[in-house]
Amino acid sequence: MSKSILVLPGDGIGPEIVAQALKVLDKINQQFDIGMVFEEGLLGGAAIDAHGVPLADATLARARAADAILMGSVGGPKWDKLDRAIRPEKGLLKLRSELQLFANLRPAILYPQLADASTLKPEVVSGLDILIVRELTGGIYFGEPRGIRTLANGEREGFNTYKYSESEIERIGRNAFEMAMKRNKRLCSVDKANVLEATVLWREVMDRLAPEYPEVSLSHMYVDNAAMQLVKAPKQFDVVVTGNMFGDILSDAAAMLTGSIGMLPSASLDKNRRGLYEPCHGSAPDIAGQNIANPLATILSAAMMLRYSLDQEPAAQAIELAVSKVLDQGQRTGDIMSAGMTQVGTDAMGDAVVAAL
Ligand code: NAD
Repeated sequence: MSKSILVLPGDGIGPEIVAQALKVLDKINQQFDIGMVFEEGLLGGAAIDAHGVPLADATLARARAADAILMGSVGGPKWDKLDRAIRPEKGLLKLRSELQLFANLRPAILYPQLADASTLKPEVVSGLDILIVRELTGGIYFGEPRGIRTLANGEREGFNTYKYSESEIERIGRNAFEMAMKRNKRLCSVDKANVLEATVLWREVMDRLAPEYPEVSLSHMYVDNAAMQLVKAPKQFDVVVTGNMFGDILSDAAAMLTGSIGMLPSASLDKNRRGLYEPCHGSAPDIAGQNIANPLATILSAAMMLRYSLDQEPAAQAIELAVSKVLDQGQRTGDIMSAGMTQVGTDAMGDAVVAAL
C-alpha cells in the first residue's frame, strides 16, 4: 500500500536541506520497498509570495489527506514586516492546530563523535539520549482570555491564561508513557505544582495514569529544578513530559546540550500518530543558498517519520546508523566542524548519507 508524504520545504535553507532528506528517502524507499509517494507544497514565506497567505486551504487539505508531512523551516527577514496574522510562522501554527498535532517529540541525542561540540564537559553529555515530550496545542500559548487591556487607573495590563483540561493532560501523558515503554522506562513529568493550580491537576493526572504502565517509573520535578538538572546532570533523564511553555524552553536548553542545532530532529503527532516532521532549527536566512547548512536534522526527522507515522522501525534505524557512519568517517558541515575532520557542504553530506545506506 502506498504512503503519501506531503513535502513542505518552506523558506531559507528549507529547500536545500529537504532535498537531501528526499535523496535519503528515495534510497530507503527502494531498499525497504515502503511505497512512499511524495508531493510538494508551499508553506510560510514561499506560500505568502505565491498565494498571499502562509498556508493555503488547498495545502491544508493535502496535509489532512497525507500519511505524514516532512517540512524544512519557515520565515525570514523578507516577511518580518508583514501583518502578524499572515506571517510565515502563522502557517505552521495553523497546520499544527488544524491537524491537532498535540504531541511534540524532541530527542536530544549527543552522538559520541560530536562530544566536543557541546559547551558542557564531554563526561557530562557523552552518550546523552533524552526525549522531551512537549504538549503543543494547549497551555498558556493558546489559553483564553488573553490580551492587553487598560485598567480603570489608565495603566495597561498584559494577561494570558494557563489552562489544561484533564483530557488534554491525559492524551499527552499516555503518549509519554508509551514513548517511555519503548525506551528506558523512566518518565519525568515537569510542572510547577507548588505555584500553579493548572499543573497541580497535571501532576494528579500523571499519577492516575501511572498504574496503567507498571513498568514505567514515573517521577515529578518542578520546572526550575528541571532546568538546573538539565545542565548539571542531563543523563539522569530518559523521557521528560511537560506542558507547552515549559517544554518550549526546556527542549531548547536540551538541544543546546548537544552542541549543534543542525543535528536535532522533531516530530509533532496527532492521536493516531500521523505527524509533521521538521528539524528543530529555523530557516537560517544568514546561510541560505550557500550549500553550507547541515541537513542531518532534517534527515533524522525523516527517520522519525518512518518510525512513528509509517511504522518502519528498521528503515528508521538504517538512516540513523548511516548518519553515525558518516560522522565516523569524519565528514562534517561547518556547524559541527572540528580539527582533523573533513568539511563538506549540504549536498555532499546528503550524498554521504545515501552512500552509507
Ligand atoms: P535559526 O535556527 O534559523 O538560526 C540560528 C543560528 O543557527 C543561525 O546562525 C543559523 O545559521 C544556524 N543554523 C540553523 N540551522 C542550521 C543548520 N541546519 N546548519 C547550520 N547552521 C544552522 O534561528 P533564527 O535565526 O532565530 O530564525 C531565523 C528564521 O527562522 C526566523 O524567521 C524564525 O522565525 C524562523 N524559525 C522557524 C522555525 C520553524 O520553521 N519551525 C523555528 C525557529 C525559527
